[in-house]
Amino acid sequence: MRRKYLDCRESPGSNCTVAISADTDEELMEVAAQHAVSAHGYKDGPELREELRKMLKKQEESIPA
Ligand SMILES: [Zn+2]
Repeated sequence: MRRKYLDCRESPGSNCTVAISADTDEELMEVAAQHAVSAHGYKDGPELREELRKMLKKQEESIPA
């Protein structure tokens, strides 16, 4: 199964190296939003979710989950 992932290194102006992965968009968005708020001081809301969604990627099939 392909997992979705989000790499915080791609966040603008961030030197955070955390990568978050999950099987579903919903789970990933939830954890990523919590991370953005607690670690980066973002305010949770539609704008943050939209930014996170742009960073969301699919892992390659060859990478074991
Ligand atoms: Zn981060």
